[in-house]
Amino acid sequence: MIEKDVVIIGGGAAGLFCAFEAGKRGRKVSVLEHADRVGKKIAISGGGRCNFTNLLTSADNFISTNPHFCKSALARYTPADFVSLVEKHGIAYHEKKLGQLFCDGNSREIIEMLLTEARGAGVEILCGSLVRGVEKNGRFEIRTNNGDFNSRSLVVASGGLSVPPLGATDFGYRLARQFGLTIVDPWPALVPFTLARETLGELAPLSGISLDSSVACQGKQFRENILITHRGLSGPAVLQVSSYWRAGLGVTINLLPQHDAAKFLREPENREITLANVLSQFLPRRFAVAWCALNFPSQPLKRYTPAQLEEVAQRLSHWQIIPAGTEGYKKAEVTAGGISTAELSSQTMEVKSVPGLYFIGEVVDVTGQLGGYNFQWAWASGYAAGQSV
Ligand SMILES: Cc1cc2nc3c(=O)[nH]c(=O)nc-3n(C[C@H](O)[C@H](O)[C@H](O)COP(=O)(O)OP(=O)(O)OC[C@H]3O[C@@H](n4cnc5c(N)ncnc54)[C@H](O)[C@@H]3O)c2cc1C
Repeated sequence: MIEKDVVIIGGGAAGLFCAFEAGKRGRKVSVLEHADRVGKKIAISGGGRCNFTNLLTSADNFISTNPHFCKSALARYTPADFVSLVEKHGIAYHEKKLGQLFCDGNSREIIEMLLTEARGAGVEILCGSLVRGVEKNGRFEIRTNNGDFNSRSLVVASGGLSVPPLGATDFGYRLARQFGLTIVDPWPALVPFTLARETLGELAPLSGISLDSSVACQGKQFRENILITHRGLSGPAVLQVSSYWRAGLGVTINLLPQHDAAKFLREPENREITLANVLSQFLPRRFAVAWCALNFPSQPLKRYTPAQLEEVAQRLSHWQIIPAGTEGYKKAEVTAGGISTAELSSQTMEVKSVPGLYFIGEVVDVTGQLGGYNFQWAWASGYAAGQSV
């Protein structure tokens, strides 16, 4: 038996952060990572530049059955705290937009920073570790191919189900079930939509076109780009609403968020011009033509009745799409749902009914919007547990 104070399962953002925070407090810590290296998601995050936090982080940026749960951890470890750490390591960064901070260079700098901190805190990291079983007999016993560990605290930081090739597993949920904990059924979030054949037939040939739009679902609205893909719709605005979408629900797209469609459709100088040509003044031409094919046959505006023009204007600002589905965990940036926050202390992330057992990061039912919030949750929840284990 290898004796430790803390064993952490999962060497991603939350696990590594928690590890060195605990190590700094003098705890003997091992991180068990089943992949051949740690931090694979950090490496590809933010298009290779890691959107490592968001300066505007608040509880409103998270989806959870209990929207208040994340407040305590987020208040104790803030974006400014993480920025200080990044600056201490001399990593250059910039704000891209809306408070989103990215590395100027490469995401690997963030991984290197976490590993440097972990080394400094005496953390042991064991890649290629397969956990075969966990039991609690007073202390935790963790059987692995790298030996059997015995620890006072066990931290589960194994992430969600998104992007299996990067190491995602359902380990955290299985362990939670073993200890009788409630799980909020997970679903893929920050994920592109797929569309039904009829809509896709017109839109797929336009794949690659992106439009500044406002997209809404379930009372949440996001103004950013949407991107047409071979299978449906993506782009930041679509990814954002996807987290709130459920099968069968419609999504409303305002294609002209900065224009008054009703007004320009009534302009006398547009009367002789076809609808597709008028729309081409505001939208990419190929998209305008496809949108007309899906919605209204394009003809000179004078041939529409005033009521029909009202309807065109209404549909331009409230274009209803019912996605056929999403691209699922293969493409989802995160997994929403997870270990019920009702099971955990919001101060420490410790399971109330199982002293010494902790869940942190994406495996918990706290999911950030797009824009650096998911990493901020990983750091903050890792910090909270790191101060307690
Ligand atoms: C393509 C992509 C881009 C993203 N970009 C951003 C971004 O720019 N900004 C942002 O805030 N968020 C981004 N995210 C989300 C962010 O990466 C995650 O929310 C964050 O990494 C979650 O941290 P975590 O430590 O909980 O889980 P992870 O980082 O996923 O780490 C979990 C670790 O546990 C390991 N593991 C799993 N099962 C086991 C097991 N059974 N035994 C041992 N180890 C196991 C995994 O291999 C992994 O290393 C992105 C996600 C993706 C997929």
